[in-house]
Amino acid sequence: MGLRARRIALGVLGLICAGTLCARAQTAAQPADYPVASDARVGGDAKQTRFVVDLSQKVEIHAFTLPDPYRVVIDLPQVTFQFPDRAGERGRGLIKAFRYGLVMAGGSRIVLDVTGPVRVDKSFVLEPSDSQPARLVLELAPASREAFMRAATVDSRPARPPARASEPASPAASGDPRPVIVLDPGHGGIDSGTRARDGSEAEKNLVLDFSLMLRDKLDKTGKYKVVMTRQDDTFVPLADRVRFARSRNAQLFISIHCDALARGDGDAQGATVYTLSDHASDAEAAKLADAENRADVISGVDLSVEPDDIAGILIDLAQRETRTFSLQMAQHVVNQLKTAARMHKHPLKSAGFRVLKAPDVPSVLIELGYVSSRKDLKQLMSEAWRTHAGDAIVKAVDGYFTTRLAGGTGR
Ligand code: ZN
Repeated sequence: MGLRARRIALGVLGLICAGTLCARAQTAAQPADYPVASDARVGGDAKQTRFVVDLSQKVEIHAFTLPDPYRVVIDLPQVTFQFPDRAGERGRGLIKAFRYGLVMAGGSRIVLDVTGPVRVDKSFVLEPSDSQPARLVLELAPASREAFMRAATVDSRPARPPARASEPASPAASGDPRPVIVLDPGHGGIDSGTRARDGSEAEKNLVLDFSLMLRDKLDKTGKYKVVMTRQDDTFVPLADRVRFARSRNAQLFISIHCDALARGDGDAQGATVYTLSDHASDAEAAKLADAENRADVISGVDLSVEPDDIAGILIDLAQRETRTFSLQMAQHVVNQLKTAARMHKHPLKSAGFRVLKAPDVPSVLIELGYVSSRKDLKQLMSEAWRTHAGDAIVKAVDGYFTTRLAGGTGR
């Protein structure tokens, strides 16, 4: 099975949330003593491109390449990023853009999107000198695809494997008979998700804050054992979210996201509830699933190291029963949420979301609204709306389990 000892980073270590949204999540720990990455610069041209990061102290780094799309990944110990706003949006020379963030507790990552196959000529960190901070330096030069692929195979394993779900004791073993619900705030760490048009609100923070509130509401009922795939600003690969739910013997998996549309895609707005399907219900659903499935590409996770048990889970292996239950849950959510929130004009949709692929855990993905819509964003940010929407989802969960247990199919 190849399930290695893997842990999900649930411990609250240093957090790098920006803005006020996850202030509550942040109170547990401050990014106290991590080295600070204060600036990043790209210089040079398409023959030789240099990437430099200013650091408050020298750290160990590990740089490697990943193909399809071509990327250069730099792993470093956990640092606090204080780059200027919009850093990384535009590149130069061989670097198109770059992203950065926490990829696991204790580990940060910078991912460079490059224009084509490249060679990492140099990668080192300079000691600080009188006038200069410590500096991380990477030098890239163009390479052939063959050379790139050769280097990527030899060197693509990160020094530390990304955070993985562990195999915790099953609820039965812990003597708790309540159904296990897994809440899955989308994105996290290096993967910010979508952003509001003015760049102010990252999806990862909005959905984490909402999910923490929803967890508290579900906990309060006393009827469920609620666990989360992440409860801080940590990146969790998609397959690990699925594996986490399965290893917990979850009876329900709820993934929370907010959508965004590129300008010119119309003015779609309102909440949507998705279930898994190999045939997307419409073009918008297909596009959204593609966008959400990109999380692993964004973080630089090498999918080729995914164990076969997950890689082999095909949509059509999903049991019919699981699909039926997922659809029932989605219907409950739509029915309840429409009393509290504005809904998309077609609120129930399906598409090939990787995170919904557990064959034996009924799973839904709720897009709370469009951060690209000013009205939706205002709602998403409003405490009153969030409370209503949270209560509605709790009612949906209650309705779902009542029907299920009444039908004698409860596990
Ligand atoms: Zn998302």
